[in-house]
Amino acid sequence: KADPAPETLTDGFHLLIDALKLNGVETIYNVPGIPITDLGRYAQAQGLRVLSFRHEQHAGYAAAAAGFLTKKPGICMTVSAPGFLNGLTALAHATTNCFPMILISGSSEREIVDLQRGDYEEMDQLAIARPHCKAAYRILHAEDIGLGVARAIRAALTGRPGGVYLDVPGALLGQVMDAAEGQKSLIEVVDPNPTSVPGPEAIDRAVEVLKGAKKPLIIIGKGAAYAQADEEVRKLVETLGFPYLPMSMAKGLLPDDHVQCASAARSLVLKESDCVFLIGARLNWLLGHGQGKNWGEKGAKKFVQIDIEPSEMDSNQKISAPLIGDIGSVAKALLEKIGSDWKKPSEEWTGAVRSKVEGNVAKMAPRLKNNNSPMDYQGSLGVIKDAMKENPDVILVNEGANALDQCRSIVDLHKPRKRLDVGTWGIMGIGMGSAVAAAVETGNQVLAVEGDSAFGFCGMEIETICRYNLPVCIVIMNNNGIYRGDGENWSGGEDPSTTVFVKGSRYDLMMQAFGGVGVTVDNPDALRQAVKEAFASRKPTLINAVIAEGAGKESGNIGNLNPSSVVAQQ
Ligand code: ADP
Ligand code: MG
Repeated sequence: KADPAPETLTDGFHLLIDALKLNGVETIYNVPGIPITDLGRYAQAQGLRVLSFRHEQHAGYAAAAAGFLTKKPGICMTVSAPGFLNGLTALAHATTNCFPMILISGSSEREIVDLQRGDYEEMDQLAIARPHCKAAYRILHAEDIGLGVARAIRAALTGRPGGVYLDVPGALLGQVMDAAEGQKSLIEVVDPNPTSVPGPEAIDRAVEVLKGAKKPLIIIGKGAAYAQADEEVRKLVETLGFPYLPMSMAKGLLPDDHVQCASAARSLVLKESDCVFLIGARLNWLLGHGQGKNWGEKGAKKFVQIDIEPSEMDSNQKISAPLIGDIGSVAKALLEKIGSDWKKPSEEWTGAVRSKVEGNVAKMAPRLKNNNSPMDYQGSLGVIKDAMKENPDVILVNEGANALDQCRSIVDLHKPRKRLDVGTWGIMGIGMGSAVAAAVETGNQVLAVEGDSAFGFCGMEIETICRYNLPVCIVIMNNNGIYRGDGENWSGGEDPSTTVFVKGSRYDLMMQAFGGVGVTVDNPDALRQAVKEAFASRKPTLINAVIAEGAGKESGNIGNLNPSSVVAQQ
């Protein structure tokens, strides 16, 4: 039988790209290498935007952030074994945060790997990935590529979103099949984000509980930001008239200076409220599991919760009225049920919260205006706060310990999905990947406020930022160390303390090395000027912001999580 003409054939490379394109994928976050180097090249040739990173973890964090921002799975592509493992950290992060993401990793030859004969980068990646993500699949035949990609997209998006692993053995990419048959094998996923509404009795129950509350509180989480039901959420919150607390990545879903925003009265509302309505937020460690002294008297609160994941209910506290469904649909159903004669909570409650907010904001205001040199967190972040108010479309990326805690509480957000941070794990290193994704997916200016320690986990990606000429301005809050820059070696020996860095490091010079703009500033006025110039030019910029060594505290706001030794001499 004669060989078929090449133009009648397709192969694994092209089917994979076609399957992604058919499902609306436009961007791939990639690190090239065996066996996926050509896959990246072909993807670029076929019109996908392929951004190549210096390390897979950051390509993965970019894909995770893209998933959060777009409600479509962010795609990360890596090589086998070590590249896969580097990407896996980000895949686990995406899953933990409920962000849709697909990690596509090349893998070595199955016959050799499965007999453990010692292949190049031998590793049973599928088995290793499985416990760290929502679903994991391997494609062995070119004719199954359409199915594999469809399953990955469906699994990443439907229900609680999360990370999916797709194992692509190198041999698959080279497999050929008839082009027409190949096209027929592809699947376009229909309605991967289906609406789902709880039954009428669940809606009635929730409205009864909310009606009975004297001191109600709403907590809005990043699930609500992800849901892209901005109007419905806003209408629900304003109709109910409850004070609300935004979790960090839900900031800006309603503007942080909204009259109902209780962020500056957090302790008061957590303690005193008698009913808490969770909208896309989990009662995990970030909320003290809904118990303990911050939450007031035990058993004194009722909880109502909207979540797409049924098993989230009662995971920490009794949920008196579970609302299992997507936030947009549930909010609409609640608003319909409530109608127009809803009685808002008493002025006694909302007024008390409001006056606490105003008191705390007024107390903080003068500290945000200081022009100290070297800077403290308040003076420097006061500048960032103003910059974000004047430029509400800028996406703020934020990581660190004190740089995170202080920035989260000081800097207001004014629009939805404008804050990307360390998320559910509270990890370091998400900054540069998130910044790249934010710039690429939205085209907006990005401002990354980074602790000097956090930056160290991802700093090499400034080359990526410069290479793609992205409008990213990085501000490094440089206090010479982890938590603080003034730690001492407890042995009294010559080595520096385990928590300090080279003093006076010039991170700005790294940026210059790649052709970006790099400046050092040591007072708020200079910082203000440098940020202004970065936004005006949209050039990749790194501002090395010198912070006092003694500013900041051990582990920021979560020092209580450090175990302490009872026998130590120090
Ligand atoms: P935060 O850290 O901001 O409190 P979490 O990540 O803990 O937020 O919680 C987000 C929650 O939102 C998750 O439990 C997730 O299942 C849920 N969620 C995600 N998307 C939706 C959606 N479209 N509708 C309803 N719930 C959602
Ligand atoms: Mg530091």
